[in-house]
Amino acid sequence: MEGPRPYGRSAPGCKREVPAGDGPYAAAMGTKRTPYVCLPCRGSYKQGYDHGPERKCPRCGAPMIGVGSAFQPPRRRDDEAWRVLSVLLHAGVRFHTRGCCGEGSGYRPRTLAEVKARVAYARRTGEPLAKALVRPVV
Ligand SMILES: [Zn+2]
Repeated sequence: MEGPRPYGRSAPGCKREVPAGDGPYAAAMGTKRTPYVCLPCRGSYKQGYDHGPERKCPRCGAPMIGVGSAFQPPRRRDDEAWRVLSVLLHAGVRFHTRGCCGEGSGYRPRTLAEVKARVAYARRTGEPLAKALVRPVV
């Protein structure tokens, strides 16, 4: 006998099995645009998959980082948010959607205090930083 499925939260009628806007399926469709970030400019730009593998910032020409379709850019003047984001991106954390119906990327720290707690946790336990950083609780 089968119990209820652990992830049965899809909206009625939703038949998607892949995250919207990410991955090879979106690339095959060719029309999806996904956010890229330039940390020095604090800029976020949506680009399609047809722009080639490397994205350059339209303002400064630096290589941009693909952040995932659930990404919400902080305000340009929000120093702390951009520092937090910089730590996350350098650790390899991205903002890809987990489900099909806009569930978002899951927990991401938003303050430097939250980041510090997770960095300390990673040091203490030996857990990879990218994994410790997305823990809701440490
Ligand atoms: Zn730039």
